[in-house]
Amino acid sequence: MTKLNSEARRILADAGITVRDWIAYGGWLKEMTDEADERQWVPETEWRGDECGCSDDRCIGFHHDEGEECGCLPVLIENRAKDREAYDIWQAYRTAVEASDGRGDQDAYDAVWSRTETWVRRHYPRALTFSLDAVVKGERGITATYPPFPNGSIPDYVGATPEGDGYRQQLWTEGTDPNGHISHERARTMFSQGEENGSGN
Ligand SMILES: [Zn+2]
Ligand SMILES: [Zn+2]
Repeated sequence: MTKLNSEARRILADAGITVRDWIAYGGWLKEMTDEADERQWVPETEWRGDECGCSDDRCIGFHHDEGEECGCLPVLIENRAKDREAYDIWQAYRTAVEASDGRGDQDAYDAVWSRTETWVRRHYPRALTFSLDAVVKGERGITATYPPFPNGSIPDYVGATPEGDGYRQQLWTEGTDPNGHISHERARTMFSQGEENGSGN
């Protein structure tokens, strides 16, 4: 089994990420048999990516040459920070909305709104507007609006819906965990949306 090399460990440590955190972010599952002899999928506890820290086990020699710096690792670290911030934003948003028996806490709502604005501007600079309240195809989360493509069409991505001349796109969806992994239930919803999109064309 591959081990993370010392450079990858140093970069992760500098970012405040433990090896255990990084394995969890990789999101691998392994099959186990419990006491009742039932097969189960549980989170992997060993590193399954490449030595350089990329979660793809064929990074060295494919994404970059041996001895060359890994370009994937910093991108993945940034992505992890993005996913965690979105998760925290959503918890803060729900708390603000549900405060005072559902009457809400306006100050907390405003604070989470500006935090979201920073997050959207940083990670989705093309977005026109954003929302925490919009529901897209029955799912809640952080969404943004976009102009149509230059040819006037709009995409049929999962989590996108027409709005105005353009479309609204889900950027983060409720039910995603702090590592950016989706639940089984959500995976099914996304799959059925994909099927609908496919048959609609
Ligand atoms: Zn890679
Ligand atoms: Zn690499």
